[in-house]
Amino acid sequence: MEKKELIYEGKGKKLFAVENGDLLIAEFKDDLTAFNAQKRSQESGKGALNAAISAKLFGLLEKNGIATHLVKTLDSTNHLIKKTQIIPIEVVVRNVATGSLTKRLGIEEGTKLAFSLVEFYYKNDDLGDPILSDEHAILMKLASDNELKTLKELARKINSVLLPFFESIKLRLIDFKVEFGRDRNGAILLADEISPDSCRFWDATSGEKLDKDRFRQDLGDVKSAYEEVLKRILGALN
Ligand code: UDP
Repeated sequence: MEKKELIYEGKGKKLFAVENGDLLIAEFKDDLTAFNAQKRSQESGKGALNAAISAKLFGLLEKNGIATHLVKTLDSTNHLIKKTQIIPIEVVVRNVATGSLTKRLGIEEGTKLAFSLVEFYYKNDDLGDPILSDEHAILMKLASDNELKTLKELARKINSVLLPFFESIKLRLIDFKVEFGRDRNGAILLADEISPDSCRFWDATSGEKLDKDRFRQDLGDVKSAYEEVLKRILGALN
């Protein structure tokens, strides 16, 4: 599968056109960014780790009835994906309070939430990805009322598949962010990636952080944490 022109470059991936106009190639980059890209670094091999982790998780979700954009893995850093129009809403699911939830609302760090919380954020770097109410999203025509309902349902379903899976490999899924796109028929597909860049994982036994918080908080050993996550996933899914 030959890459044609670069059509988009984000913080974590590059998207290339291919011969078939309904498909794209997503290339996972080694760049690490945090705090709206004010903090930047590179970690050689990180792109391949995220590509492998995301492919396995998207496969698991597909098996559980969630439609994703992933067509197939091409090599260690490239995925063939279905072209979608990305809905500019970051859908965050939280099982345990940390990060911006504790900062904004004062809920104590580490509190297990009484139910899984689904939040919407406006995917807009210039505005710093602000939190959105459903009415904000509808008012701004980011998505229809029905689509918002679908996003919430899909986010909860993804959580209900991933939570027990990660529990089985001794990782606590604290929170994660997902993005969705519309295909040419308007069907909503899980897009982007699910990886330690977009999730928080705490080791079930030691409580050690095994995700991008190692980079955000300068805890070191970023790559070995991502390797550990992949190793556990492969141990369970291979
Ligand atoms: N997240 C993400 N991209 C973003 C913002 C958040 O992938 O632009 C993920 C983050 O890794 C965490 C969850 O969404 O798993 C919730 O993040 P939070 O709102 O607490 O923001 P943060 O503390 O990262 O600023």
